[in-house]
Amino acid sequence: MSSCVVGSGPAGVAAAAALLDRGESVTLLDAGGELEPAVQAIVDRLSAEPHEAWSAAALERLKGGLRYNAEGAPLKLAFGSDYPYRDVEALQPAATHGVDAYRALAAGGLSQLWGASILPYADADFEGWPVTADEMRPYYVSVLGMTGLAGEEDALSRLHPVYVRPTTLAPGAQARFVLEHAARHAADLERRHVYVGRARLAVVQPNASGQSCVYCGMCLYGCPYGLIYSAKSTLATRLTPCDRFEYVAGVVVHRVSEQADRVIIDAVARGSDEPRRFEARRVYLAAGVFGSTAILLASLPDPPRPVLLRQSDHFLLPLLLRGFTGRVASERLHTLSQVFVEILDRSLSPHGVHLQLYTYNDLYPRVARDRLGPLYPLVAPLVDRLIDRLVMVKGYLHSDDSAAIRASLDRRSGRPVLRLEAVPSRRSRRVIRGAAALVRRSRACLGARPIRLGLRVGRPGSGAHVGGSFPMRRRPAELESDLLGRPVGFERVHVVDATVFPTLPAAPPTLTIMANAFRIASESAAERSVL
Ligand SMILES: Cc1cc2nc3c(=O)[nH]c(=O)nc-3n(C[C@H](O)[C@H](O)[C@H](O)COP(=O)(O)OP(=O)(O)OC[C@H]3O[C@@H](n4cnc5c(N)ncnc54)[C@H](O)[C@@H]3O)c2cc1C
Ligand code: SF4
Repeated sequence: MSSCVVGSGPAGVAAAAALLDRGESVTLLDAGGELEPAVQAIVDRLSAEPHEAWSAAALERLKGGLRYNAEGAPLKLAFGSDYPYRDVEALQPAATHGVDAYRALAAGGLSQLWGASILPYADADFEGWPVTADEMRPYYVSVLGMTGLAGEEDALSRLHPVYVRPTTLAPGAQARFVLEHAARHAADLERRHVYVGRARLAVVQPNASGQSCVYCGMCLYGCPYGLIYSAKSTLATRLTPCDRFEYVAGVVVHRVSEQADRVIIDAVARGSDEPRRFEARRVYLAAGVFGSTAILLASLPDPPRPVLLRQSDHFLLPLLLRGFTGRVASERLHTLSQVFVEILDRSLSPHGVHLQLYTYNDLYPRVARDRLGPLYPLVAPLVDRLIDRLVMVKGYLHSDDSAAIRASLDRRSGRPVLRLEAVPSRRSRRVIRGAAALVRRSRACLGARPIRLGLRVGRPGSGAHVGGSFPMRRRPAELESDLLGRPVGFERVHVVDATVFPTLPAAPPTLTIMANAFRIASESAAERSVL
């Protein structure tokens, strides 16, 4: 009997890879979901061509139309398609009150459209965790081998080690402007507890065909050369070729139950709703935090009390550069985050605040055109001048400084509904305003100042950094998990995604989700081989 992983996102593929490395047989169950064949055909064609041959029409097709999320920012799509989000409301219904709940039912999960910012947690980020940064180090190295790393040893490396030799993505002119200012004023910034460095990105270059980044600016729509890491690439290149691995797509898991020597997995076929049943010696749940939480709540014998999800509050803050760096719209550049800023000011919070700076991308003029409608031609020269200096900050707080989300499963209807309700935090607004004020006071050191009245605070969940409903503890109590991600009451069910995070530090979580999934799968398999 093989072990079974549920979910093919970053957590699922990391767990499956670790189990295969330990010599186990693995069946991976996933809801599936693929890019439309016609769009995939365009991507395949472009990936085989030099970028100079790409037609404008093909690129426009991959960009797709503009859609907005609840924050009023452009909704992140994959090559213009919303396929990762498709059927989510029907197959994993959630009733949300003041909460954003990003979920994907797709091969590769949310990594089909994520922003690829990665950063190992700093030593202090593991406060309250039953594992330390030192213990996580080998697992970070293992998963960085899958995600790739573009970045640099710089002012951030002391806090967040680089662990593997990174490749380089050249910063654009706006990012160079900020980085040069920060380097000149590094001592001043350090006195303010502000640390500035290059963004770290899950970018694998060169790809299997020897192709490296061509600075085409398509990153936020999807990379035609497949350089931006997606869990689907690990599925295709590392897992599927192994003869001890089986991928079963089109299966939506509802609950798991343990018997003496096995786990029964009850699911339905996506599309027909036909019941499907699987058996496994162990199950590794990696259905994303909302998916795994719903499966666990449905699997516990008595209706449990609500659980509390932790998350990073998220805000947007536009900055204006203090100088002109050239006409950005005609520059060749990548459009993932270009600069990371870490704020460690204890007068603001005992925890860090993480800022990701996004320099020019063509969503800025597209949104302006869309929002201004017939007025746009009149103000276009002004808008262009503004965009030449515009840098957007996406900021994230530690979960202790953030709102939480109360989750319960309403099992009254045929398909249980996950109820998600915001639990506000008193500290959050103060920390966000304090961080924005610190950026304003540091404007000369950063070469950029915040735009007054531009600050926008997202709803809980809007940053998609959510977890912690069944946190890992050394001595777990009810609705908590042990070090191997097993919620109390389970022996053979391990949860390997952010569901088991004790806290959500401010830094992007996915690299740590993968490292922790790899650790749990690897250590649980090692424990079995000793027994
Ligand atoms: C727009 C956006 C940008 C982001 N950018 C970043 C970033 O830059 N950096 C960062 O660190 N994080 C980012 N994130 C968050 C990141 O995408 C997630 O942390 C990461 O994908 C979580 O991985 P996961 O494997 O736990 O879950 P997911 O990626 O959600 O994968 C879950 C998998 O489980 C499957 N599944 C779900 N339910 C079931 C079920 N019941 N039965 C069977 N299969 C199921 C799905 O099909 C999917 O394959 C972003 C998220 C969004 C939405
Ligand atoms: S700029 Fe972005 S989309 Fe273009 S090749 Fe580089 S990583 Fe890929």
